[in-house]
Amino acid sequence: MPPVPPEAAAQPSRAQTAASGAAPWPAQVSVREVGLRDGLQILQRVVPTAHKIEWMRAAHAAGVREMEVGSFVPARLMPQLADTAELLAFAKTLPGLVASVLVPNLKGAERAIDCDADAMLIPLSASHAHSLANMKRTPDEVVADIARMVDLREQRRARTRIEVGISTAFGCTIQGRVEPDEVVRLVRAVLQAGADSVGLADTVGYADPRAVGELFAQVRAVAGDRVSTAHFHDTRGMGMANVLAALQQGITRLDACLGGIGGCPHAPGASGNVTTEDLAWMLERMQIATGLDVQALLALRGTLAQWLEGEALHGTLWRAGLPRSAPAGHTASATVSALKVSA
Ligand code: ZN
Repeated sequence: MPPVPPEAAAQPSRAQTAASGAAPWPAQVSVREVGLRDGLQILQRVVPTAHKIEWMRAAHAAGVREMEVGSFVPARLMPQLADTAELLAFAKTLPGLVASVLVPNLKGAERAIDCDADAMLIPLSASHAHSLANMKRTPDEVVADIARMVDLREQRRARTRIEVGISTAFGCTIQGRVEPDEVVRLVRAVLQAGADSVGLADTVGYADPRAVGELFAQVRAVAGDRVSTAHFHDTRGMGMANVLAALQQGITRLDACLGGIGGCPHAPGASGNVTTEDLAWMLERMQIATGLDVQALLALRGTLAQWLEGEALHGTLWRAGLPRSAPAGHTASATVSALKVSA
């Protein structure tokens, strides 16, 4: 038998190769915990800073290496996130953690730079109507502000990365349809304005896997790897399916919320982001490396449920539990819930 050529030996594993010529799965994905911002901003209660710090510490111990820790919006508008600077300071004590904050305007960008945030995330709505309602500016006015933030970073010689999240990329509760061409135009515009990277967000849970695959393919065609992040809400139960569609387009950064908390002010009763622990489990089963410890995430979810007593948490893994005998990446012979059903 001839020796195996090196390129054959380096063939991707089952995890990387999808059947029937479909796009390969990525070998590695980064899951960014956004519960401290996207999850908490919608809740009426103010979670004590000590609990948030414990959340960050435990999430880091569970392998989370990217977190959105808050938002630099005026505290009178969002008292839930008034301790963002303190959380950013704590983030620096956690080795290897990339901490980002949401900033809506130039003033927020100044604060992010002052606090030496690793990244600032600027939301840019692809829906004109949503942009006016949420940001009080048209999408093009926000693009102009992003250019000013890039200039500010230059002047200050800061290292804070500038990421833009295109919100309502798949539709909007106010405007309805959002044209994919408008999303592509805005992706181009913000990259020209100097943003480092762009992500697409399904802010109100209108996306479906086909739309996700098609839109990510379109923006990747013009922006390549600078579009690397997907942000899905599980509003109508398609969060995980949308994640798969994004993975198939080479997306390797995914936002998620522990316990699936959060929601959207424009979609009452809706669940929040894709659930971190469910997502971590799915990726582990698919042999896609995340560095996450699912058991530790489940334990943290339990703590979070106590802190947020009375709030709706989402997700399914916590209910069923992990399969009884399922080493990472192997087919489960029996799950706890399946045993219960057949008993
Ligand atoms: Zn969101």
